[in-house]
Amino acid sequence: MPNEKLVCSSCKKNIANTRGTAVFNCPNCNKQEIVRCIHCREIAAKYVCQMCKFEGPN
Ligand SMILES: [Zn+2]
Ligand SMILES: [Zn+2]
Repeated sequence: MPNEKLVCSSCKKNIANTRGTAVFNCPNCNKQEIVRCIHCREIAAKYVCQMCKFEGPN
């Protein structure tokens, strides 16, 4: 059983078993992992990096 926890950076939902999820490092500081579910990608919801407060859609 996978113990992985994946929480969307925008809507804070656990999306560990959701398809279409995007995981990438913050494009600004490259230290924080940003997770976006397919829903937030579709509506272009904002995300905020916890490390550097960078805000962005993609
Ligand atoms: Zn989301
Ligand atoms: Zn950052």
